[in-house]
Amino acid sequence: MRAWSAVEVPTIPATPSSYRIPERVSLVTTNDRALTPVGPEQGTAGMYVCGITPYDATHLGHAFTYLTFDLLNRAWRDAGLDVEYAQNVTDVDDPLLERAAATGVDWRELADDQIGLFRSDMTALRVLPPDWYVPATSIIHEVIDLVAGLASSGLVYQVEDPEHPDWYFRTAQAPGFGAESHLGREAMLLEFAEHGGDPDRPGKKDALDCLIWRLERPGEPAWDSSLGRGRPGWHIECAATALNRLGTAFDVQGGGRDLAFPHHEMCAAEAVVATGEPFARAYAHVGMVGLDGEKMSKSLGNLELVSRLVDAGADPMAVRLALLNHHYRGDWEWTAEQLGAAQRRLDAWRAAVRADRGTSAVPVIADLRRTMRNDLDAPTALAVIDEWSSAVLAGDGQDEEAPGQVAAAADALLGVELA
Ligand code: ZN
Repeated sequence: MRAWSAVEVPTIPATPSSYRIPERVSLVTTNDRALTPVGPEQGTAGMYVCGITPYDATHLGHAFTYLTFDLLNRAWRDAGLDVEYAQNVTDVDDPLLERAAATGVDWRELADDQIGLFRSDMTALRVLPPDWYVPATSIIHEVIDLVAGLASSGLVYQVEDPEHPDWYFRTAQAPGFGAESHLGREAMLLEFAEHGGDPDRPGKKDALDCLIWRLERPGEPAWDSSLGRGRPGWHIECAATALNRLGTAFDVQGGGRDLAFPHHEMCAAEAVVATGEPFARAYAHVGMVGLDGEKMSKSLGNLELVSRLVDAGADPMAVRLALLNHHYRGDWEWTAEQLGAAQRRLDAWRAAVRADRGTSAVPVIADLRRTMRNDLDAPTALAVIDEWSSAVLAGDGQDEEAPGQVAAAADALLGVELA
């Protein structure tokens, strides 16, 4: 499936070697819990970011996640790497089916509408599209193959439930289980219950075992397979999608922090057992966006949507700037005032890059590269451009090339189009 419209990334002038910048992009990863270089020294970096379940349009929490990994994509490209990027769409899953049933809409129609809206939001925000955009319904055969690979490990079984003997995987038996989230068993059980798991289901061998194949229930979509007619579990869907496009030991698996456990830990457990190789080398997680004192979420209904802001007249670049004003690992709360402040910043930057001269772009570009390669520090990068644009608007500088060069750097590194 085609993702969304491609965005052209301008090239920015090389930084002179006298301006020391780190050669590699580093992130504070969840698994290492320290600033760690991510991606190879040269060649191709591989990234997998968990996609949406298409039953509600893009809220600002989603947008913040995809913008964060867009910054990583841009920082890698700027550091001279090629990037291979895969993202899935969980277009068959309980929440989608429940929403479709509750609203009387066909689940496929609901998914198609919401995927369309997500794509137009990503295009408006100038997010670089992934190379593979993969609906779960298109890779059912890949899931079956992966389950077959797992079966020889002896860690796959049918739950003791005469009516619905669904297939489970003995997650906690996987080598290295827990190394991504660093959670103890009690914390794992709590997180598992909170994020779509079923620790209390009778008939499981261990409370942390995860569903890999759900046998058909009346009225639910199902596919024929050697496991019986049914549909895949969520974790195995992402594991199959990533492995079959990026291979094992790809560079970064990303998502919101609520995916650290169980989702990413369980994807990794399945992949490690099936392949004998590591899944992702690094895991990176994005903070939660709140509204009205609570985490923005579909279940609470406190959502602010990208499409609603844009339909109400917001410049998508101001929405992007408002999000980039927060560091990706922190939690923060959305307020309408932030959009106004971002619009004022955008206006000032646009006025500065329209000037026919300004102070040199060379230290600005070096500082932008330094801050973005240092754990994607977008708020500091915005302050760097603020300082340059204030000086230009005050009439400083005689460099005629500077405005165009800063505009190119803001676009290439931050995805903010100023033209
Ligand atoms: Zn995923």
